[in-house]
Amino acid sequence: MILSIASGKGGTGKTTLAVSLALALDNTVLLDCDIEEPNVHLFVQPEIRNEQRVEVPAPRFIKERCTGCGKCVEFCQFNALALIKDEVLIFRHLCHNCGGCTIVCPENALPAEMVEIGRLYKARGLGGIDVIWGAILPHQVRGTKLISEVKKNANPSAITIIDCPPGTAHPMVKAVDGSDFCLLVTEPTLFGLNDLKLSVETLRLLDIPCGIVVNRSNLGNIELIEDYARKENIPILMKIPYSREFAEAYSRGTITLAQDSQWVAQARQMLQTITELRSHPQRTQQTQQTKRT
Ligand code: SF4
Ligand code: SF4
Repeated sequence: MILSIASGKGGTGKTTLAVSLALALDNTVLLDCDIEEPNVHLFVQPEIRNEQRVEVPAPRFIKERCTGCGKCVEFCQFNALALIKDEVLIFRHLCHNCGGCTIVCPENALPAEMVEIGRLYKARGLGGIDVIWGAILPHQVRGTKLISEVKKNANPSAITIIDCPPGTAHPMVKAVDGSDFCLLVTEPTLFGLNDLKLSVETLRLLDIPCGIVVNRSNLGNIELIEDYARKENIPILMKIPYSREFAEAYSRGTITLAQDSQWVAQARQMLQTITELRSHPQRTQQTQQTKRT
């Protein structure tokens, strides 16, 4: 099963949940697709076993060969090229590395060369879990290839837990796509509710079933989330109250949820509920809530 963990914004406790579930459940693989700020590995004492460069083909302009015909600019759908005074400018942040300009240039003035966009790390962490993450280079903006490389390590015979980038933009969509189920982590505030709605809309477009985990559930107004969940028939699968002790441990680089036997039992129950929801997608939220311990 591929179980992704997402949230409409950063700082909701998405990584905490991903790491805690990976440690609490049996037979898990933990993938960190939050390539701009990968941090799950910081909490699992990883022993890095493999580090790989991840590269994409990118056009390089050779002025001496260019005749100024403009075919490359005309071809590029992403407006990543401009022809100015017989010179082609490449706007790297707009380039999608499709390779088209390399092909259409009749003078071979835009040959492709491999450019590193980031690194892929494979490690063994606490409890013997496999932890894989990607880290994009600071000046690179197109990281979907790196996310794909991380996701190639999903294990069909295990529970693959994916920590997704925050938000609902392309990196989140890339990370969550193909998941069997998505847990949306939110907080009981108006901001939390607003971001939750955006995430739900995105998942519905992708046809991915989801459930809600409310973090810091004892702060703010839980009814905001409960009312929305009821109206949209989305199960609230877990509520995690704020704990000062937990927050202090987190700031020291330790996640203690998975050491709490009650929470571990709750996590296992949640996995059971998710399995049932996947088998019976029409089941109502009320039914699921009745089954929760
Ligand atoms: S590789 Fe594709 S996206 Fe990039 S500049 Fe060339 S045509 Fe445009
Ligand atoms: S297609 Fe090639 S020759 Fe024509 S403008 Fe572009 S780089 Fe120059």
